[in-house]
Amino acid sequence: MTPASISTVLRDRSLAPGLRAIAEKVYAGQRITPEEGLHLYEEAPLGYLGALANFIREEKHGDKTYFNRNFHIEPTNVCLYTCTFCSYSRRIKKREDGWEYSLEEIMDIVKKYDDQPVTEVHIVGGVLPQYDVPFYAELFRRIRAHRPDLHVKALTPVEYHYIFKKAKISYEEGMALMKEAGLQSMPGGGAEIFHPEIRDQIAGGKCSGDEWLRIHEVWHNLGMRSNATMLYGHIEKFWHRVDHLEQLRALQDKTGGFQTFIPLKFRNQNNELSHLSESSVVEDLRNYAIGRIYLDNFDHVKAYWPMIGKTTAQLSLSFGVDDIDGTIDDTTRIYSMAGAEQNPALSTEQLVKMIRAVGRHPIERGTLYEVITDFRDVEFSDEKQYRGYTALPVV
Ligand code: SF4
Repeated sequence: MTPASISTVLRDRSLAPGLRAIAEKVYAGQRITPEEGLHLYEEAPLGYLGALANFIREEKHGDKTYFNRNFHIEPTNVCLYTCTFCSYSRRIKKREDGWEYSLEEIMDIVKKYDDQPVTEVHIVGGVLPQYDVPFYAELFRRIRAHRPDLHVKALTPVEYHYIFKKAKISYEEGMALMKEAGLQSMPGGGAEIFHPEIRDQIAGGKCSGDEWLRIHEVWHNLGMRSNATMLYGHIEKFWHRVDHLEQLRALQDKTGGFQTFIPLKFRNQNNELSHLSESSVVEDLRNYAIGRIYLDNFDHVKAYWPMIGKTTAQLSLSFGVDDIDGTIDDTTRIYSMAGAEQNPALSTEQLVKMIRAVGRHPIERGTLYEVITDFRDVEFSDEKQYRGYTALPVV
C-alpha cells in the first residue's frame, strides 16, 4: 500500500481549500498551526495524510528504515501508582503476584547477553520505594563497568520525579547524578497525554505533563538525548493530542534534544479501561501521519512493532514512520500483557526482511542513530520467497 505522491494531491481539483492550504505548506517545508493539526485529525482522509507524511519522511530519510538490537529489563511490575490504562503493573496490594528484582538479579539478566551483538539495554518498570537514587546509580555504574559498549537507556520522568523527590534533590542535581553514574539516554515513556483534564483521569498521582517536559529539558540541557511518546486512542479527544504534540514541538524548539516521536496505541486487555474499544488500523496510520506532519523539528517517528503488529508496522512505513525499533528476545511483557498479539521477538534477519519486503532500505542503528550495519546489499538465502506484507493488511 503506497500513498499517492504529494504532487498528485496538489493536482486534485476536488481537494477542500483547508486541506489544500495545509498540503501547500507541507510541500513548501512550512510548519502547520495547532488549528491546522486539529483540522487534519477531524477532516483529512487517510490517503491524503499518507501522501503528506511520506513526502516529509522521504525528504528527511529517503527509503532508510531504522531498527536496533536491544533487550529490555523491567526491574519490577509492582507499582505505587494506579494508571487506569496499565495492564502491566501488579498493584502494591497484590505485590506477591509480581516480581521485584535485586541488583544482582538485574546484572544476571545483563550477563545473559554477553555473547550477543546487542547495542542497547532499555530499562523501565514500576515505581517502588526500594528502587531509589542509590539503587539506580549503582545499577548504571555496574552495567557500564561490565559492558562499556552497551548503551544504557533507562527510566522515564515518572521514576525520576519520584526518586528525586524522595531523595530531596532537584531535577538538575538528580539528572546530573544519573549522567555521572552512566545513564546515556532516556526513553520516551510516561508522557501519556499531557493535558491535566485527561492525565488526572488515567494517570493521576504520577508526574504531571509539565514535570515530564521539565525533566526532559533538564536532561537535554546536559547535552543528552531522549525520546517522546503519546498514548492515544482511549478517552482523549483529538484536541488533546494536538495540545500534546504542540508542547513537544515547543520544547524541541528550545532544546533540540528529542530524537524520536513514538505514538503508543492504547490496548484494552487486563486494565481498568477494558470497556473502551481500541483504535482502528486506519486511525493508527492517520495518527502516525499527523505526528510526522506536526513535529517538523523531530528527526524520527517510530512504530513499536510489538504493540501494533508486524503488518501495521510495515504499513506505517508509508505513513511517516522511519523506525520500527527492534528486540531480539521476549524481554518485555508490557505489550503482551495489554493485549498485543505479537510475541515481541524478531531476529535481525526477520526485521531486515520485513522492512525490505515493502521496498524500504533497512539500517541497523545504535541508540543515537549511528549506523551499525547498512543492509542495502546484504541478501539472505531464502529472501526471494519473502515479498510483501507479513499478513494481509486489514484496513
Ligand atoms: S503506567 Fe507506569 S506508573 Fe502507571 S501504574 Fe503502570 S507501571 Fe505504574
